[in-house]
Parts: sequence; structure tokens; C-alpha cells
Amino acid sequence: MVGAGPYGLSVAAHLRAAGVPVRIFGEVMGSWRHAMATGMFLKSTPAATDLSAPVPGARLADFRRMHGEPELTELTPIPCDVFVRYGQWFQKQHVGEVDPARVLEVSRAASDSAFVVQLDDGRELAAAAVVVATGLHGLAHIPDELSRLCLERPGPRALVSHTSHHTDLSPYAGRRVAVVGGGQSALESAALLHEAGAAVQVLVREDRVLWGRRPSLARPWPQRLAKPASPLGPGWTLAAVCKAPGGVRRLPPSARLLLFRRALGPSGGWWLRNRVEGIVPVRTSVRVTRAEAAESTVRLGLTGAGGASETLTVDHVLAATGYRLDLDAVPFLSPAVRSAVACVPGSKAPRLTATFESSVPGLYFTGSLAAPMFGPMMRFVAGTEYAATRIARHATRRVTAP
Ligand SMILES: Cc1cc2nc3c(=O)[nH]c(=O)nc-3n(C[C@H](O)[C@H](O)[C@H](O)COP(=O)(O)OP(=O)(O)OC[C@H]3O[C@@H](n4cnc5c(N)ncnc54)[C@H](O)[C@@H]3O)c2cc1C
Repeated sequence: MVGAGPYGLSVAAHLRAAGVPVRIFGEVMGSWRHAMATGMFLKSTPAATDLSAPVPGARLADFRRMHGEPELTELTPIPCDVFVRYGQWFQKQHVGEVDPARVLEVSRAASDSAFVVQLDDGRELAAAAVVVATGLHGLAHIPDELSRLCLERPGPRALVSHTSHHTDLSPYAGRRVAVVGGGQSALESAALLHEAGAAVQVLVREDRVLWGRRPSLARPWPQRLAKPASPLGPGWTLAAVCKAPGGVRRLPPSARLLLFRRALGPSGGWWLRNRVEGIVPVRTSVRVTRAEAAESTVRLGLTGAGGASETLTVDHVLAATGYRLDLDAVPFLSPAVRSAVACVPGSKAPRLTATFESSVPGLYFTGSLAAPMFGPMMRFVAGTEYAATRIARHATRRVTAP
């Protein structure tokens, strides 16, 4: 198992319960500890944030109850640190030992169909199956016009960074920061920057910012009929793709990719709205076309709705520009393994069987990398149950077959 986030831990819990000898590598809840800023909240609701185990008593609500913490409802956004503690507790209760080593390379063994896994501390081991559960690690996307500056001056003096580079935005206090993007991480980072004392503005290329609606705990039946609930929010499309990820997989690739790109566009959580609207300047219909370093500042070339250009000078640009699902950016697949993994036409995401196995027998992919096959639920914790049960069942047969 490469990765010990929600997906890695869930698959591991099922494999361990089935008696499969499984080794799990990575830092428990590593992305949630190192690729998100302190003070962030989850956008998903408590009911959509359960990790999957084969026994009862493993839900977020169970964790809260056992620790004497009040129950969370749809109206109480979950702080990231609560989710990290839940993941750590889940690991201790349902997974057991996790090896914090990083996987450097997964290659094919010369002699048979197994894999060789090389670790960053020099160890090497054989595996009959490998599950890639590394989430969005390494897949951060910075548009070309900004990425050049990120490479030119990396590290703490960087003029441009990606939201995933930060656990603490307070060092930007007193500085001018432009946040590029219009989704949750742009808007929440902007709120945190403002609250830390930065002079922040958000640059959004869409013509408006979308906000989630405050949920109501009791929804009358006409509302539930018009917009059924789902782990990803209300609506028939979301309810259908969450109910039947296997059905999504059987759609033509073009329809799946359209669903992947359109089903959940960028938007801010309802609870974030009053920390941004009227407080942080948000400019819509504006594109960054150019970025130049000017001593310790960045000069951004902007183009507005009518094609009007202007220049904006800031001390730092925070790219909240999301992630690209690109297998070539997964650093530990050997060239031979990478080239043997077939992709979904029109993308660089792996083509997967109904049990999440790639075209390389014994190599499985979970989480976001599986979303172009199984739909948007795989981008979220809510997909762990579907993925973990299927991967574990299939991998158990593969590993224990005589
Ligand atoms: C800012 C932000 C907010 C989000 N909010 C939500 C939300 O509210 N609700 C929700 O459901 N989803 C949210 N997501 C999506 C979230 O990433 C996924 O739901 C979830 O974390 C996916 O779990 P995962 O196990 O696939 O990956 P991750 O949680 O990213 O875990 C990856 C694991 O892989 C390990 N790893 C990486 N490379 C290696 C290597 N080479 N060797 C060994 N281990 C390695 C890491 O240490 C980590 O343990 C958010 C994402 C972001 C970026």
C-alpha cells in the first residue's frame, strides 16, 4: 500500500481484516498534515467523511463519541485537525502498523509477475500486488505563466507558490498577496491570509463566485424529491454518480470525462461566505496572462472581461489552481511500469477494471486518480467504502490464490 491517507488506510483495514499480509507505507494522514494550511475546515459534511472498515464502530461519529466530543452535524464544519486525529485513531484501531518510509520506486520483478518496491531508507521488498493511494501528492497544477517564477525562485523566497505548499499562511502578514482561483481552497486561503493580516485579493477567471447553500437539517419531501441528498451535495446527478460509481465506469470515456470536469465546479463552502464576501476583494472575469519578477515583487499582467489589460504588483502569488491527474507526475512508477499502464482516452489517468486494477495486473489505483473512471465521488473521502471493499476483495484473491 503506497499511501496512508483516507484511501490507503481504508483499503488496508479491509486487507488486514481478511488476513492478507499487507505493508503500508507513508505518513498517516500526511497530506492533511502537510499540504493544507492550519485553520482550514473540511468542505464535506460529517456523514460524507467516514473512512471505511469492515467492522462497525469506525465512523467519524464513533470517534467523536468515544472521545466524549459532541456530535457534528451538517451545520458544523469539521476542522482539519479533527479529521487528522480521526484518521490517526482509525489507523490504531483498524489498521495497525504503518511504515513511514517513502516509496521511491515500484518496478516489475524480473522473475515473475510480482513487483519490487524500493524505499527511501534503502530497503527493497517484493510485493504480489501494489495499491497506489497517494492522493493528489505531486499533482499540484500551476499554470505555465506562473510556474516559471515558482521554479526560478523556489523555497521560502518563492514569489509564486501553490496552496498545497503551505501549512501556515501567517508569514504573509503585512504583505500583498494575489490568490489565483475561485474554488474552496482559493477562498479559504484568502480568508486565512486576510485574518493573518495580509493585504489579499482574489483573482477569479469565472464571471462569478459560487457558494454552497447552508443545509437545513430537516428538508420537506418535495425538496428531497427535487434535489435528493448525496455525499457530494443535493441533486439528481450527484446522487446518481454516488449511488452507482460502477455505472459511471460503463459510460463512454468522453461522457465520463465530461462528468469529471463538470459535475462539481469550483465553489466555496456556505460557512466560508461571511469570512470573504465584503471583506476580501474578489475580482471576477479576470485572467492572469503574464507574471514577471521585479526585484522582490511580482508584476502580474491581467486581462479583464472586455479585453482591457492592466498590471498588478504584489509581493506573492498564491496559485489555488488545483491539481492535474497525470500519471507521468506520479514519481515512483518505474518507466517500464508507467508505460504499461493504459490511460483513459483523452487523459493521463489510469484505465481501471471494476476492481480498480490497472492494465498492469496487480497494480491498483484509488482516490482522485480513479475519478475519471468511477466519477467525482473518488475525489472525496466518501468514495473510500466503494473503493476499499472492491480493491480488498480482488487483491485478497490475487495474493492468496495458490
Ligand atoms: C485543500 C483540500 C481540501 C479538501 N477537502 C476535502 C473535504 O472536505 N472532503 C473530502 O472528502 N475531501 C477533501 N479533499 C480531497 C482529499 O484530498 C481527499 O478526499 C482525500 O485526502 C483523499 O485521500 P487519499 O488517501 O487518496 O490521499 P491523501 O489524503 O492525499 O493521502 C496520500 C498519502 O500518500 C502518502 N504518500 C505520498 N507519496 C508517497 C510515497 N512516495 N511513498 C509513501 N507514501 C506516500 C502521503 O504521505 C499520504 O499518507 C480536499 C483536498 C484538498 C487539497
